[in-house]
Amino acid sequence: MANKNTKKNKRKAVSANEQAQYREWRQMFHAVGLRLTKQRLAIYRELETNQNHPDVDTIFRAVRTDIPKISLFTVYRTMNMMEEAGLAWRITTWKSHARYGTSQERQIAHFLCEKCGRIDNVELDGLATLRRSAENTLGALTGMDLIFRGTGKCCASRAKASARRRS
Ligand SMILES: [Zn+2]
Repeated sequence: MANKNTKKNKRKAVSANEQAQYREWRQMFHAVGLRLTKQRLAIYRELETNQNHPDVDTIFRAVRTDIPKISLFTVYRTMNMMEEAGLAWRITTWKSHARYGTSQERQIAHFLCEKCGRIDNVELDGLATLRRSAENTLGALTGMDLIFRGTGKCCASRAKASARRRS
């Protein structure tokens, strides 16, 4: 029913879709007893659209362009509230900054580039098998904290390029 419409949403599409998106999010917030205020909407939208799993500072800087009066403290408080309500997921901490995604992030694996802090979603052969195996052995899963760390291709190629420039 409601799902059928919202599934069709394409992010770049017209305002009818944005309205459907808004209604979906408002319902999601209501389901956990929260009102979807203008500030929360802006924060949640940034969380949804920022592919790099932002920290609070990054969310604050992005949201401030739309809502100049918002404070960093408000963004902190909102992120904590959304995390407690299960709307946001703390993926990991990098250089003492917590990095967030929407609650869907708790179902997937990530890779953290320890050079630049980029966090990518990870799809690997065997992950589904691992999940099933964990479920069979341990019990019903609600999510997983699976984070690979290292020097990503993002920074490996940059290191190579600067080595070339030096030579
Ligand atoms: Zn990197």
